[in-house]
Amino acid sequence: MKEYDYLIVGAGLWGSIFAHEANNRGKKCLVIDRRTHTGGNIFCENVEGINVHKYGAHIFHTNDKEIWDYVNSFVEFNRYTNSPVANFNGELYNLPFNMNTFYQLWKVRTPEEAKEKIRQQVEEAGITDPKNLEEQAISLVGTDIYEKLIKAYTEKQWGRKATELPAFIIKRLPVRFTFDNNYFNDRYQGIPIGGYNKLTEGLLKNIEVRTGVDFFENREEFTNIAETIVYTGPIDEYFGFQFGQLEYRSLRFDNQLLDQENYQGNAVVNYTDGETPFTRIIEHKHFEFGTQPKTVITHEYPQEWVKGAEPYYPVNDDKNTAVFNQYKELAAQEENVIFGGRLAEYRYYDMHQVVGSALKKVKTHFS
Ligand code: FAD
Repeated sequence: MKEYDYLIVGAGLWGSIFAHEANNRGKKCLVIDRRTHTGGNIFCENVEGINVHKYGAHIFHTNDKEIWDYVNSFVEFNRYTNSPVANFNGELYNLPFNMNTFYQLWKVRTPEEAKEKIRQQVEEAGITDPKNLEEQAISLVGTDIYEKLIKAYTEKQWGRKATELPAFIIKRLPVRFTFDNNYFNDRYQGIPIGGYNKLTEGLLKNIEVRTGVDFFENREEFTNIAETIVYTGPIDEYFGFQFGQLEYRSLRFDNQLLDQENYQGNAVVNYTDGETPFTRIIEHKHFEFGTQPKTVITHEYPQEWVKGAEPYYPVNDDKNTAVFNQYKELAAQEENVIFGGRLAEYRYYDMHQVVGSALKKVKTHFS
């Protein structure tokens, strides 16, 4: 008999949910994380009473009532609605593209006028077979929206010219002919009241957790400590990078504490011009309708990923997919190891998808 039933490597959302559910089923769990805190990428740092989303702005949204009820059973969520604003050389536009945006762009007041404007621009561009992202975007929404709100932002995000990016990246562009600035179409959205750490703390209540502990520093000991390992770290690292390293797109966050109450009046402002080097400024207090005397803002800079940097967005191109599939085959052969979460599955997951995926695994594993 080993000391624990489960060793959970990674105290992010996926690992925390698995640990919670296993613990509820009477299993003895140990959760470790190499970071000095739990929560993984949803962790918030408290600065002057403001929850600062340390690894990027996180807004929970889902259409699934079960998932919504599940997270709300640990902490109540507020009514935050994501309605970003775009700043193009000082001109402000509402997002996603909706009647407010069209009025700001063209002073059109009715859906018919807006549709006609877009139709004219798409027709003038005359693109029938889009060969790259630029042509694809123009063929969908016309030149004005593309030039002011898509082009430079996308180029900054990907670090490449829009004409060098494949058309398939943009399959469709949501255009809304109502005065509705709500970014998500999902039925439920919000931020945990008191911050995301409350969600993690609720999940990990009564479970042994060790932070600042790397699985690979004591791999043998950890492998022998539990009957089953639940691994939520990078899959290539688990297998010693034997097929090469999986690539990511990374971000750099520059946080500033400002001695003023309200910097930009909105949680998210996108900078869609080509001169500004960052893509967004996040003002964290607005996620929770904060009234603190100070404020914290974060400039977000997309950047290439280098070894050792935080892996943020997987690059799911053919090359990386082929490498991942090799690791996946090895993972299927590992006995008593469960792989889960964004790093082990090398895929972008929104939080509601992580909840869904972890609960699904729990269901099959314990049935
Ligand atoms: P993680 O949170 O990464 O947890 C994995 C944990 O494993 C980490 O804490 C890591 O330290 C630990 N670990 C790895 N290797 C080891 C090891 N060897 N030993 C010990 N510990 C280890 N989703 C939304 O729904 N809405 C949003 O608005 C949103 N915004 C996002 C913004 C950004 C910039 C990014 C990158 C993601 C965003 N997401 C958002 C997605 C969300 O962050 C993820 O869905 C979720 O955090 C993934 O949880 P996870 O447990 O799979 O991974």
